[in-house]
Amino acid sequence: MNFPNYFADADASLDEADFVIFGVPYDKTSSFRKDARHAPDKIREASWNFETYDFRTDTDLKDIKIHDYGNLELKNDTPSQMVEKVTKFTKDLLKKNKFPVAIGGDHSITPGIIRAFPKDIAVISLDAHMDFRDIYENEKYSHACVTKRISEHIDIKNIAVIGLRSAEKEEFYNSKKENLFFVDSFEIKKEGIKQAIKKTKSYLKNKKIYLTLDIDCIDPSYAPGTSTPEPFGITPFDLIDIIDAFSQKLVGFDIVEVCPSYDNGETSILASKLIRLIVVNVYENIKNKDRNYKY
Ligand code: MN
Ligand code: MN
Repeated sequence: MNFPNYFADADASLDEADFVIFGVPYDKTSSFRKDARHAPDKIREASWNFETYDFRTDTDLKDIKIHDYGNLELKNDTPSQMVEKVTKFTKDLLKKNKFPVAIGGDHSITPGIIRAFPKDIAVISLDAHMDFRDIYENEKYSHACVTKRISEHIDIKNIAVIGLRSAEKEEFYNSKKENLFFVDSFEIKKEGIKQAIKKTKSYLKNKKIYLTLDIDCIDPSYAPGTSTPEPFGITPFDLIDIIDAFSQKLVGFDIVEVCPSYDNGETSILASKLIRLIVVNVYENIKNKDRNYKY
């Protein structure tokens, strides 16, 4: 079956849109399975599966002004060129007062987005991995160095990693030295997601938040189509609690590391639904206030 080539219900023009979805089809830094460059289009295709109405919030996506920009052209770019392009693109969106929604790509795209924001935002990274290596396979902009690169733009004390369950020894020790805040998935299993949210909230205080959602934070039984799957993950219902807890503070988000060639469709479906849930939640939280996504 053929589906339109844009995200379902993203019918608004760029000018009139509040939310702008854009694909970043880049996977040159993927270390285990490569195919995340095809994720933006697969996630768009999956979006046509869903109802436009969300009864949890009594909101219809049709009433939200969303624009799908399509994919950035990055085929011949090195990681650092890609990051630069992504920063420039995101800056333009923020200047126009748009709320950025990026679909990766591997995780290497995220520092590019975050660099477009002022330095005083907070970042929540939902990830099985710490991504705190300084360099990986000779590449500073690798998807294994994302949290490290982010910490060079915003203060490390404004970063929280949730769902962690894998780190290399050296990066783990370095993160301890630098006091990187994280709640690992074992603690979440033991103490519950509500407790993890409470801890993160009091740690980040009242800051505006950029959310980066590495799909591998979710257990591979729910999201097998990812570049570096890691057992003992959190559940999609945990994600709902996280979204409900933080969407009021969000200034932008991305979903990365979906790897369609290792998927039977369930991971793209989940990623697509998460985008819809977050957009609806952000909209619901701000629609009665003056519209101002601009940081
Ligand atoms: Mn990651
Ligand atoms: Mn990861």
